Amino acid sequence: MPRSGDSTRECDFKIHQRDHFHCRYCGLDGTKSFANWTNLSWDHLLPHCDPRRDEADFIVTACMCCNSSENQYFREALARSLKFENMTPDELVEQRQPYVTRTRNNYQTFWEANVRNLDTIYEARPCESTQTVLEEGWRLGADWL
Ligand SMILES: [Zn+2]
Repeated sequence: MPRSGDSTRECDFKIHQRDHFHCRYCGLDGTKSFANWTNLSWDHLLPHCDPRRDEADFIVTACMCCNSSENQYFREALARSLKFENMTPDELVEQRQPYVTRTRNNYQTFWEANVRNLDTIYEARPCESTQTVLEEGWRLGADWL
């Protein structure tokens, strides 16, 4: 196998291979494009205090969005009555899934309101100044202004 030239990516490879290069939360398929593959990371299913945390069985493939979208997960575990003992990796993924999905849905709502189709504003007026583009965005109700 040719080497990637990056030791982190090569360590991830075994985890990604086991998970068929799919994000365990959203299903992003790393085999479909180079961009997808570079977005794959790995996600710990157990908190820092758990001695099994770094075992491969308790690390899963996750895209960077899913991996970072619930960064309060372990900190909020007690308040949410989450448990980690005596659970299988699949059960741990299932437990985390709704929190990741909720955050992803919030991101999608934000993207739809503030990012989607902005390229048409820029492409339609390539010679106009940034100020004009911003004014047009404001007129259209973009929340990013
Ligand atoms: Zn994902």
